[in-house]
Amino acid sequence: MTSTVNLLKDIPSIDKLLQSQSLHLQIDKFGHKSVKDEARRQIDNLRESLLQKEESALRWMSKSDFLEEFCQQISEAVEAQFSSTLIPVFNLTGTVVHTNLGRSSLPAEAVDSMVMAATHATNLEYDLLSGKRGDRDSHLERAICEMTGAEAATVVNNNAAAVLLVLNTLALNKEVIISRGELVEIGGAFRIPDVMESAHCTLREIGTTNRTHLKDYAAAINSDTGLLMKVHTSNYEIRGFTNSVSESDLSELAKEKGIPFVSDLGSGSLVDLRQFNLPYEPTVKDTVAMGADLVTFSGDKLLGGPQAGIIVGKRELIERVKSNPLKRALRVDKITLAALLAVINIYKDPDRLESRLPMLADLARPVAAIEEVAAKVIAAVSERLAGKAVVTVQACKSQIGSGALPLDLMESRALCITPIAQKGKTDEALQRLASAFRALPKPVIGRISDGRLLFDLRCLRNVDGFLGQLDSLAD
Ligand SMILES: *Cc1c(COP(=O)(O)O)cnc(C)c1O
Repeated sequence: MTSTVNLLKDIPSIDKLLQSQSLHLQIDKFGHKSVKDEARRQIDNLRESLLQKEESALRWMSKSDFLEEFCQQISEAVEAQFSSTLIPVFNLTGTVVHTNLGRSSLPAEAVDSMVMAATHATNLEYDLLSGKRGDRDSHLERAICEMTGAEAATVVNNNAAAVLLVLNTLALNKEVIISRGELVEIGGAFRIPDVMESAHCTLREIGTTNRTHLKDYAAAINSDTGLLMKVHTSNYEIRGFTNSVSESDLSELAKEKGIPFVSDLGSGSLVDLRQFNLPYEPTVKDTVAMGADLVTFSGDKLLGGPQAGIIVGKRELIERVKSNPLKRALRVDKITLAALLAVINIYKDPDRLESRLPMLADLARPVAAIEEVAAKVIAAVSERLAGKAVVTVQACKSQIGSGALPLDLMESRALCITPIAQKGKTDEALQRLASAFRALPKPVIGRISDGRLLFDLRCLRNVDGFLGQLDSLAD
């Protein structure tokens, strides 16, 4: 008992701690308040441990270099408080546009443009000619319209917001007719029926899961119909005995009945991906040309830009969308707008698109180039894991991701890591291996398949950075 009481008296005071050399440095870096608060927290913890008579605390305090270690602990805690939880990772999952890993990386031009918008006052909503209030959509509208053939365009926070806003504007308290085959759920919270409900629309599902005909749409139209909708079945494909109605047939029917036809494209590519040896995905331009009155699509899927939702189509409808009070809540911010502008500008030079848009460069990366990466890394990874796992290079398939073209896979190469483990322990060994790679300073994220850990090398650009941290891999 006496020893604890004595030790309590020996707990250094805050003032004494703050005078130490190491905490002085932290005060310079992070400010007096944070260091002082952390010191107080650590003192309280220590006092509590002593009162609980924790052996380790008693022993620690008796050490000759206790004060030094205590300051070090406080330093590290302050450091941790200021370190970001949002850090770069190596995406070796084989899914190029990976929603959980932040989708598209932006080109340098977009980053410059974001820095400009972030650090200056801009004419975001200011008309320099008239000196009056302007419109933030004006910066992008012309270029987007030229690229898509649409009359008008507006931009919001993401495509989910675009769909919500369009539904709420054109079909508030009305019915939205949609095929049962298109009631999609996209990764987690975006489900068409739920979005309809949030937008205060009534979902009027027609046809069957595999087959929906034009006559089903026609029969469902009544005086409560707000719009006809088509949703791109981004993340699945219905095969076999199927039928869906084309955009052109739907737009004809909609025109005849005097109601709008809206197409949610999801990925929304601005160019025909076949020119990069990628599978065909309907472009925004094609969809507009087939007569959709409004088309919605993402900025950070196949467009390769920042998170945004783009709505293009008939001017009269876009004007209605823009005057919905919800637009204010869903509008895009200046930094995103700056990035999107820069990315759209890159599209004006289609010949160099592939080299300038990181997303496209990864998607279209030739197998030979991926093989070169494999040749550069195989020996080092093999050596690092010697005795623990067998590492080979294997053919694999990458996918675009984010719901685009789910069934179309691109030929690629992967490091295939098979743990050497006792029978029945393979799973555990695999998980340990995967988590060791995730614990690296720049975490490496792969995928587990068939008892092996696969690192698809399609998106590996910084080979030196990848190899340079292998020494830090935990045993
Ligand atoms: C991805 C997707 C959405 C949601 O887009 P976000 O940009 O992620 O909000 C909506 N509809 C379809 C068809 C999609 O593919």
